[in-house]
Amino acid sequence: MTDKLPSCNAYLDNAATTPTLPCAIDAMNDAMRNAWGNPSSAHAIGREAKAVLESARARLASCLGVDADEIYFMSGATEANNLAVRGACMARKKESRRIVTSSLEHASVTRSVRGMRREGWSVEHIEDIAGEFDMSQFRRALAKPTTLITVMRVQNELGWTMPTADIVAARNELSPHTLVHCDATQAFGKIPLSPRELGVDLLTITGHKIGGPRGIGALYVKRGTNMFTNAFGGGQEQGLRSGTEAVFLAAGFAAAAQEACENLETNLDNARELKARLLSGLRDAAPEAIVNSREDGSPYIVSVSLPGISNQALVDFLGTRGIYVSKASACTNNHASVPKGTWRKKHPLSLQAAGIPLELGKSTIRVSFAPSTTPAQVDMLLEGIRDFKWQTS
Ligand code: PMP
Repeated sequence: MTDKLPSCNAYLDNAATTPTLPCAIDAMNDAMRNAWGNPSSAHAIGREAKAVLESARARLASCLGVDADEIYFMSGATEANNLAVRGACMARKKESRRIVTSSLEHASVTRSVRGMRREGWSVEHIEDIAGEFDMSQFRRALAKPTTLITVMRVQNELGWTMPTADIVAARNELSPHTLVHCDATQAFGKIPLSPRELGVDLLTITGHKIGGPRGIGALYVKRGTNMFTNAFGGGQEQGLRSGTEAVFLAAGFAAAAQEACENLETNLDNARELKARLLSGLRDAAPEAIVNSREDGSPYIVSVSLPGISNQALVDFLGTRGIYVSKASACTNNHASVPKGTWRKKHPLSLQAAGIPLELGKSTIRVSFAPSTTPAQVDMLLEGIRDFKWQTS
């Protein structure tokens, strides 16, 4: 390990992960020192750990407006998504064996779904070109008996929001027995999020996108929803996820979540201002830029294509100034194009599935904000883009 992180003037890759908040570090230190017991132990040391774990669960539940026994700790959103898909389907093997999902899900959902397809389940992907979730395709899809719908809340590369409430309304009308899962990884702690109001049965959240630690997430499972487990063992987490609980990670996750949820509106306003500043600054710094994000999307994620510019070269250039953004491009080794209706083979070709041509994908960057991001950092990025263009022109 190096003794120092590279210089960092503007970390603008918060959709990938976030710096750990001081409140989360404090909560974790405290739990590691004072609640290191096994929550299942039937003595005072165990009970102390159990109390910290349950307090963390209760705080997360209150952020979501649900009950504590509906929150199951996982190692992150990946595990929660895997369990949501597989655990829900395996508990319903005698049903229709059909899954409806969007074409823009995270790999942890698409690959879980693909796993079910290999086991004989049928799958339909709903198109979401230019951020327009194809509701009529979706309604037609529900005409066939369906076991599970899994559609995310906020798309992680583009910031587009999916019409979760409309999806649930269509489910209620056309296929009331179908379960709805929502991967809310990029929404939790950032935009208002209430599983009950949305009416979903399963919802995924994670710690490290909101200033919590990596390695912990949670799955909300509406009470009464029958699920199979993917992790057999000592029966922790009501038997759904065995393994001695990561008490200190749960404490850090809950502390970060509480901070994010208490300041959600202020932080959202800040993100809106940063997005507006970036987009108006780009009109001057790079008038040719194509903004892939939408007005009605999450302001925390801005995807921009800069035609003629290599995103890798730009990321490298910005890195020399301590400015960090993400490429968010389609994998260049993949197929030249993904025809409409075709599903991606090995790589998450979200940008192409979203209707953005491959060539533009290689010129696309994703800028993502945290509550701590400042306007000055956005200005640094704009200056970096301007200078990069000048140097390479
Ligand atoms: N879903 C979405 C939408 C994500 O953005 C991510 C993180 N890139 C994940 C799932 C996986 O999260 P985790 O790292 O907690 O497993």
